[in-house]
Amino acid sequence: MEHPENEDQYKGLKVNKGVADVPTVNPYLKRRIQRRQYTPAEFVEGILKGNITILSQAVTLVESAKYEHQQVAQEIIEKCLPYAGKSMRIGITGVPGAGKSTSIDVFGMHLIQQGKKLAVLAIDPSSERSKGSILGDKTRMEALSREKNAFIRPSPSAGSLGGVARKTRETIILCEAAGFDTVFVETVGVGQSETAVHSMVDFFLLIQLAGTGDELQGIKRGIMEMADGIIINKADGDNIEKANMAAAQFRNALHLFPPAESGWFPKVLTYSGYYNLGIKPIWDMVDEYMAFTKQNGYFEYKRNEQAKYWMYESINDTLRETFYHNPAVEKMLNFTEQQVLNNEISSFVAAKRMMDLFLDNISNQ
Ligand code: GDP
Repeated sequence: MEHPENEDQYKGLKVNKGVADVPTVNPYLKRRIQRRQYTPAEFVEGILKGNITILSQAVTLVESAKYEHQQVAQEIIEKCLPYAGKSMRIGITGVPGAGKSTSIDVFGMHLIQQGKKLAVLAIDPSSERSKGSILGDKTRMEALSREKNAFIRPSPSAGSLGGVARKTRETIILCEAAGFDTVFVETVGVGQSETAVHSMVDFFLLIQLAGTGDELQGIKRGIMEMADGIIINKADGDNIEKANMAAAQFRNALHLFPPAESGWFPKVLTYSGYYNLGIKPIWDMVDEYMAFTKQNGYFEYKRNEQAKYWMYESINDTLRETFYHNPAVEKMLNFTEQQVLNNEISSFVAAKRMMDLFLDNISNQ
């Protein structure tokens, strides 16, 4: 008797003989689907050996919104931390069309030729382009994408700027543990994302264009103030003269800013990413900055400040999340909001009620 359920005592229950599994049509596909799940220790071991496939999979866990993925990701990050921190972290910003992709490709090749290993990450929460399309980013950086010493990862998609930035910051740690000694964090120069990038890099590079008349128009003062170097792209052909004029304007404007905390005076250079002109002086400037700030202690100070900042960011995120996902809060939030809209209670009373409700609820747990 194949199925005990068919015995007399189980009358009325008939179980048919099962059908054998159909053979896999494409054994390669089956192998891929059954991708091996690594343990956190195996992830760390692979990352420390510089295994790019394992690094990519770990970054995917960092980017995942799933709770179980986050658990594993945090364990990996913690174990990688002692091996991180040794890279030169550079933020690169510029409006769309300024030439970021072209420049990153050329800068990256310049550094790789010096024997460096480069990770290119991005923070771009608004972008359609970044919706997980590695191909998109790889075609933007043609030479680099063929380099084994370059790791290109598009911006984590979806989520708040804070969330996206946190993921990129954690990815930096994994890349450093994997042996990448230079990290670029690219962002589109249009919004708040510069501040996020600034909070995780050592040097902030602003790519600008000449030829728009008043060169300083439209650039947020805050972004210029953050820049350790302003580089004017497309200084080629007929544009050279205009680029030089723009550089002079920027230099004048920078003199009006209060001196930077680092003691470094930002430099303004012109170059052509497309024609590969003036690239070396840019990287000499970055090296000079690194040596200068390491010598005067600012490098270390800034890294510590950033670590502190991320600790508080992380606390704030967790608080916010715990509050808004609290069942008592979730139940009452819309109602209380409506009371405010009906002028029944003030915003402050409403906020206090919600906070009290939350605190009561968690203290009773
Ligand atoms: P992104 O949007 O900032 O990433 O800019 P891209 O790198 O995609 O460049 C935008 C356009 O400017 C492209 O058509 C490039 O070929 C062109 N471009 C980039 N760098 C230079 C340069 O140094 N000189 C000239 N003439 N064109 C450039």
